[in-house]
Amino acid sequence: MAMIEIVKKNWVKNKVLTLSLFGAIIALTILITISYKNIGKQTKKPEIFKSINQKSDIINFKKFLLNQIKSPFINVNYEIVQGDTIEKILKKYKVNNREIQTVINEYKKFGKSSHLTLGKKIDIIIKKEIEDDNSIIKFSIPITKSTTVEITKNEENKLVSKKIITKLYKKKILSENSIKNNLYSSAIQAKINPETIIEFARIFGFEIDFQRDIRKNDYFKIVYEKYFDETGKFIKSGSILYAHMTVNGREISLYKFGDDDDYGYFDMNGKSVEKALMKTPINGARLSSPFGMRKHPIQGFNKMHTGTDFAAPMGTPIMASGSGTITRAKWCGGGGNCIKIKHNSTYETIYAHMKNFAKGIKVGKKVRQGDIIGYVGSTGMSTGPHLHYEVIVNGKKVNSQTLKLPSGKVLKGEERNKFEIHRIKTDVLIAELISKKN
Ligand SMILES: [Zn+2]
Repeated sequence: MAMIEIVKKNWVKNKVLTLSLFGAIIALTILITISYKNIGKQTKKPEIFKSINQKSDIINFKKFLLNQIKSPFINVNYEIVQGDTIEKILKKYKVNNREIQTVINEYKKFGKSSHLTLGKKIDIIIKKEIEDDNSIIKFSIPITKSTTVEITKNEENKLVSKKIITKLYKKKILSENSIKNNLYSSAIQAKINPETIIEFARIFGFEIDFQRDIRKNDYFKIVYEKYFDETGKFIKSGSILYAHMTVNGREISLYKFGDDDDYGYFDMNGKSVEKALMKTPINGARLSSPFGMRKHPIQGFNKMHTGTDFAAPMGTPIMASGSGTITRAKWCGGGGNCIKIKHNSTYETIYAHMKNFAKGIKVGKKVRQGDIIGYVGSTGMSTGPHLHYEVIVNGKKVNSQTLKLPSGKVLKGEERNKFEIHRIKTDVLIAELISKKN
């Protein structure tokens, strides 16, 4: 929502800007032409005089041209002074009384008296009309440190208002719990929001099989970011900074390392947890049919099952198990809607029976590990909603669940030194968060 508002705002601003730029260019061209003509005639005048004269000439000329162009919009960044009211301010710009009253009413909807805070800046766009009956395009006024009321004219020429959050407060949170039934319910119990749980499962998806490895009383700890508005209302979740699991006697701690648009998760030895392929390209699924010989559920006879089936509710998102290029995204007969991804010269993966593909998925598209490529369905030869997942190594279909993948990269040299410092800082942060809790 806020994004759209910013785009709109810039559009109007740009229009005004383009017009003034256009004016300035014309002014300059004319001035240059005039001064060229005068060069011959002018006798020696002190240089300093010349430049002063030219500067004021340009300013005057620009003003003149701007008036000539008659831009119908006035963009004002108004600073509230002592004794200002909305009415007083808008009257200065000759806005019609009807709209002034609407703006006041809309503003009051947010529980504000017409008393304005000194020094705050209001962003106003006014459209000039004939006979000084100007109208409002936008009236945007901050009401708190992090919220703004924006009153804008919609397509039906009506002034509408809404509150916009202009600033969010980031908080680092530590949550931990032992696993009673499954990771998801224990994480929800620890008040972790679903997006963060999904990301947590993705990170550990390379190391842990959530179907088989988890034992009762296994334990997790997670440090992640949450964004709040100024009233403390939760707005969105941020990234996971640290993730720990004690599973079946094994302890794994992972640290987020890198900058915001290029980061990974590394263990205590600086080794990346991420591998070429994920074990399970779907969250919260149940392995319903393994790789190998089986009696086919529809055809009835014994047949090699060349993939792994994951039962999941219709519409569950399916992820690209590794980065690569889509080489197939179409109807494949028995496989229904299916996708094939080529990851490198060694690995390919296939995803079948999809309900539909994710937006923009087509042959030739590059995807990153964890990108959503489609949704669980039951298309083609299928008895119920599930994902049929295949891994192909050097052209041969293999069991994705027992496949040993080459381990991730290990940080070295300067990068490793930076990681060590980052790891220590994170450990200090964890200790602080724990002491705050107790
Ligand atoms: Zn299958």
